[in-house]
Amino acid sequence: MAIQTVNPYTNKVVRSFEEMTDKSVDMLVAQSAKTFNTWKETNYEQRAQILHKVASLMREKKEHLAKIITLEMGKLIAQAEGEILLSADIFDYYATNAAKFLADKHLEPEYGSAYVRCSPIGVILGVEPWNFPFYQVARFAAPNIMVGNTVLVKHASMVPQCAIAIEDLFNEAGAPTGLYTNLFISGKRASSLVADKRIKGVSLTGSEEAGASIASEAGKYLKKSVLELGGSDAFIILEDADIDKAVEWAVVGRINNNGECCVASKRFIAVEAIADEFIEKFKEKMSNLVVGDPMNSTTELGPMSSEEAAEHIIDQIRKSVEAGATILLGGTRSDLPGAFVQPTILTDLKPEIPAYYEEIFGPVASFYRVKDEQAAITLTNDSSFGLGCSIFTQDIERGKRIADKIDTGMVFINHPTWTQADLPFGGTKNSGYGRELSELGIQEFVNKKLIRIS
Ligand code: NDP
Repeated sequence: MAIQTVNPYTNKVVRSFEEMTDKSVDMLVAQSAKTFNTWKETNYEQRAQILHKVASLMREKKEHLAKIITLEMGKLIAQAEGEILLSADIFDYYATNAAKFLADKHLEPEYGSAYVRCSPIGVILGVEPWNFPFYQVARFAAPNIMVGNTVLVKHASMVPQCAIAIEDLFNEAGAPTGLYTNLFISGKRASSLVADKRIKGVSLTGSEEAGASIASEAGKYLKKSVLELGGSDAFIILEDADIDKAVEWAVVGRINNNGECCVASKRFIAVEAIADEFIEKFKEKMSNLVVGDPMNSTTELGPMSSEEAAEHIIDQIRKSVEAGATILLGGTRSDLPGAFVQPTILTDLKPEIPAYYEEIFGPVASFYRVKDEQAAITLTNDSSFGLGCSIFTQDIERGKRIADKIDTGMVFINHPTWTQADLPFGGTKNSGYGRELSELGIQEFVNKKLIRIS
C-alpha cells in the first residue's frame, strides 16, 4: 500500500511519501534501543513531564491536527477535534496515574518477605490503524512510555501526515531522540521487524489478517503481543427499553466515525414486542442523515476512509442481497464524487448470508427481530467476534444479568460501546487479546519482577 494522503472526500492524491529503507529502519531501531537504556533510568515524574507537555500541545493545536485527520481519512471535523481532546486526556491520565498503577506490590508469602516490582522491558513496536489516527497511538504510546519502554510506531499508510504530526509533538515536547519513533514501512515489513532482537513486544490494532500475521511472528520469536481487532457488536433492544433513547443511541452507535469503528454497533437485535416501533424510528433517523463534506460542521455522515473501503462495503451488501438479505434502506454509493456509501439497513439475515458473520466497516446496520431475551443472547454470541455489546433495558439488574451471559470483552448498558482513558478496552475470540487503557492497559508490556528476601 502506497504511503500517501488521499482525500476521501474527493479521492484526489494530496501528498506521497517514500518508504524508509532497511538501513534507515535499522538505524532508528538502534536509536530506540539506545534511548531505552537511559529512559528506563528516568523516574515517573520525568516521564510524566513529557507526556503532559504532549497533551497540552495537542490541545493547543487541536484545530490544526483535527484538519489533518479529516483530510486523510474523512472523519467529521467535530469528531476529529473530539479525538484530539480524548488523546490528550489519555496522555494526561497515564502521566498522572502511572506511578500508582506500577507501584511495588507487597506480598505476604508463607516464608520470607517479597514484593513485585514493575520494570520496563525495552523497545515496543505498535502497528496502528487509520480509523482513530491519534487516539489509537495515544493508548499504545502513553502507557508504554510511562512504564519506561521506548516505542516504534508503524502507522497506517493512509495517514502519513497524522503519523508525522504525532512524532513532531513528541519532539516539540522535548522527548529524547528515540523515545517515540515513526516508521514509514509497509505492514509486511512491520511483521518481519518483530523478529528483530532489539524489539521486545508488539501491539496491533487492525484487521484479523494483520493481527494473525503479527501474532504468528510474535509467537515464533517468543514475544509478548496485544491484539485489538475487528468487532461486530450487538445492540440489544428489550421490550422494557426506552425506545426513543435506544433509537438515538443506535444511530450514534452505528454512524459515529462514519461507521468505521471496531466497536460500532453493527447488529441491531430487537425483541418482537418492540421491533416494529424500533425499526420504524431507526430507519427514519438513518434516512434523514446529512451526508457530505466532513470539513463542514453540519454534515452528519462523511465518506469512507478510501475508495477501496467504500467498494468493499458495496461488495459485501451485493453478496448479502444475492444470498437472500433485504435492503430496508440505502444499499448503494451516493452520487457525491468521494468514497461515499449511503446509510444502509439490511434485514432477513441468516447464517449463510455474508452480512450475518462478517464485520461491515461503514454505515450499514444489520437488523434482527427475535422472540425474546434468550434469543437475543444466543444471536449476540453467534459471532466469531467478541469485542463489545450494548443492552437497552430500563431494568438495570436485568441488564447486568444478561451482561454475564454475553461473550465479549465489554458490555454497555443503555449506551453504545464507548471508550475513555479510565475504562479497559479489548475483546475476546477473534477480536483479539490483551487490554488497552485504564490500569489494565499499562500492565501489558511490563516485567513484573518478583523480589524475595530471606
Ligand atoms: P489493516 O489491518 O490492514 O491495517 C491496520 C494496520 O496494520 C496498518 O498499519 C497496516 O499497515 C498494518 N498491516 C496491514 N497488513 C499487515 C501485516 N500483514 N502485518 C503487519 N501489519 C499489517 O486494516 P485495513 O486498513 O485494511 O482495514 C481492514 C479491516 O480491518 C476493516 O474493515 C476492519 O474490519 C479492520 N480494522 C479494524 C480496526 C480497529 O479499530 N480494530 C481499525 C482498522 C481496521 P498498512 O496501512 O501499511 O497496510
